[in-house]
Amino acid sequence: MRVYNFSAGPAMLPEEVLKKAAAEMLEYGSSGQSVMEMSHRSKEYQAIIDACEASLREVMNIPDNYKVLFLQGGASMQFAMIPMNLMVKGKADFVVTGQWATKAYKEAQRFGTANAVASSKDKTFSYIPELDESKFDKDADYFHICLNNTIYGTKFSKLPETGNVPLIADMSSCILSEPIDVSKFGLIYAGAQKNMGPAGLTVVIIREDLVREFPEDSKVPTMLQYKTHVDNGSMFNTPPTYAIYILGLVLEWIKGKGGLAAMKELNEKKAKVIYDFLDASKMFSATVQGEDRSLMNIPFVTGNDELDAKFVAEAKKNGFVNIKGHRSVGGMRASIYNAMPIEGCEALVSFMKKFEEENS
Ligand SMILES: *Cc1c(COP(=O)(O)O)cnc(C)c1O
Repeated sequence: MRVYNFSAGPAMLPEEVLKKAAAEMLEYGSSGQSVMEMSHRSKEYQAIIDACEASLREVMNIPDNYKVLFLQGGASMQFAMIPMNLMVKGKADFVVTGQWATKAYKEAQRFGTANAVASSKDKTFSYIPELDESKFDKDADYFHICLNNTIYGTKFSKLPETGNVPLIADMSSCILSEPIDVSKFGLIYAGAQKNMGPAGLTVVIIREDLVREFPEDSKVPTMLQYKTHVDNGSMFNTPPTYAIYILGLVLEWIKGKGGLAAMKELNEKKAKVIYDFLDASKMFSATVQGEDRSLMNIPFVTGNDELDAKFVAEAKKNGFVNIKGHRSVGGMRASIYNAMPIEGCEALVSFMKKFEEENS
């Protein structure tokens, strides 16, 4: 029996996608082989990666002056690759809204001056800080945010106004969850394992003018230059072929559901089911309030560690798995990415109601 998996990542994939992949496991089309066994240089595989990129461009409405790259190394590799490629003048601004944003900020310090323009660390990152534009460096190479903070369940409800300074966003845990205006960003990146597909694939969407040409004798490794991957269609070396194929299937599934506008509507409904219950409950409460609330990750607590542990254990027995909160926040967290059906959110709330009745 399949469980409702509330993991922050790797996370649930749509059942239709898994079934399609299963049906094509032994033979993709009439190729006589699995996608996993195919040469990445074959005509068949080129068609798969091209279709995946075309679908991503269609679904996200990516303008023509942006390159789409299929890389490895996770979002964590981008914490280094971004400053290595984009810190030309040697300085960038950061909003520190959680653990991932902090990692991006710290890693950038290896390559230049990273300036924290705001932080929400004082309250365990439970809110998005107000931004004072007078603190923004007009001469910075870029301005970095983590759009959705996976661990703390916060999301920027409006984007910083950075003028001519390119805005860069880690969208690992919210990409494809709602429409975004790609043209507002210089670079977008996301590890695939939250909302796109299996682990092992990292998607980078970069505006062409930010793809830097390095001198022949540069110390920046070939694999860590965006230009290498732009020039080679993400095939400088072997790309994560199977993960790209699954992303293609996920994008087809999203298109079939009506695209990102439909995803947003559904995700808002799903999140409302849980937030409404948390706001009414006497036992459980959400750790984030108001417009900063994430649609994808919902942390909540009872205020009692023993009760939290009992809830997590009983939830697991009842088929609601990976609902324990991150160790830095405690309590619980329900990650409800695109693939979590609304029935999963409703079933979780019914279970929480019952738990509350039995334990108060
Ligand atoms: C999961 C996550 C990461 C880390 O991703 P890896 O692919 O494991 O490196 C970074 N940023 C955010 C927002 C995440 O949710």
